[in-house]
Amino acid sequence: MGQGNWFGKGSKLVRQPAALTEIAHKPALRAIPPGLHLISTPIGAARDITLRALDVLSGADVLVAEDTRTLRHLMEIHGVPLGTRPVIAYHDHSGEGTIARLLALIGEGKSVAYASEAGTPLISDPGFELARAVAAADLPMTAAPGPCAVICALTLSGLPSDRFLFAGFPPAAQGARRTYLADFSGVQATLIFYESPKRLRSLLADMELTLGAGRQAAICRELTKRFEEVSRGTLADLSAEFADREVKGEIVVLVDRAPQPEASAASIETALTDALATMSVKDAATFVSQTLGVSRKIVYRIALDLDRK
Ligand code: SAM
Repeated sequence: MGQGNWFGKGSKLVRQPAALTEIAHKPALRAIPPGLHLISTPIGAARDITLRALDVLSGADVLVAEDTRTLRHLMEIHGVPLGTRPVIAYHDHSGEGTIARLLALIGEGKSVAYASEAGTPLISDPGFELARAVAAADLPMTAAPGPCAVICALTLSGLPSDRFLFAGFPPAAQGARRTYLADFSGVQATLIFYESPKRLRSLLADMELTLGAGRQAAICRELTKRFEEVSRGTLADLSAEFADREVKGEIVVLVDRAPQPEASAASIETALTDALATMSVKDAATFVSQTLGVSRKIVYRIALDLDRK
């Protein structure tokens, strides 16, 4: 195995420069406050972990992980000693017993760090039941934010980032998947899905059918890893591109929002008249142009005319 710094669940490939394990993380001198600390971990490149996440991993009284081996390994890479601290396994099916035990530890004033397998806990990963129980018990909770495939993919997709809807993993069965996709067809936001490489082709085919073959989309594969790749195009283009390819690795699929029907002059005027009742000409023009998806310049001109009447 060559040199690198890859660390990922999908590929199980973990590489790091020989020197990396020798550079121990120097934690901040502050004590880690009591409570649950939700730690984001890398989705590929091991060095994507934040210094604060390493501080918490260095100083927390108790470590909790979806996969205790993965967490130990990540700590090893960054030279964070575990010492005699316990590492407890937790996922959303661990049951009430584990949650009760963790709540008791937090209640006693312990700092508890939780990391899921990769990325941000709770995002298509365990942690929700635990976080909800901590919130319900009114115990302290904070996060050391960091890598998340949804956000990484959105920033690279070339699709609008002003509004997005993360829909998790689509159902595996075709009928359920089509119904699920159809529910999102009119949503005015960039749609983001996680998908397994095995199902990418059938997902793209169902997306063409339910969302429209002409919609802009992007496929982000192996983000932050050696074979990172972003493909952009219409759903029809991407279906054709991936039709004969053997696809491997971890994947995020993003689809542009539904095209809006063209607004008529009458509908612009009606919307502007309503908006001008409570807003300045400038604000009304911005609001209507954004809601109807019409050029602000055109809407502003109509707004000025209406305001003069
Ligand atoms: N908690 C993680 C996060 O914050 O993104 C997600 C965990 S979920 C079990 C795993 C899915 O996330 C993968 O199947 C893939 O869809 C997406 N994913 C995770 N890492 C990725 C990467 N490096 N590149 C592309 N997609 C990734």
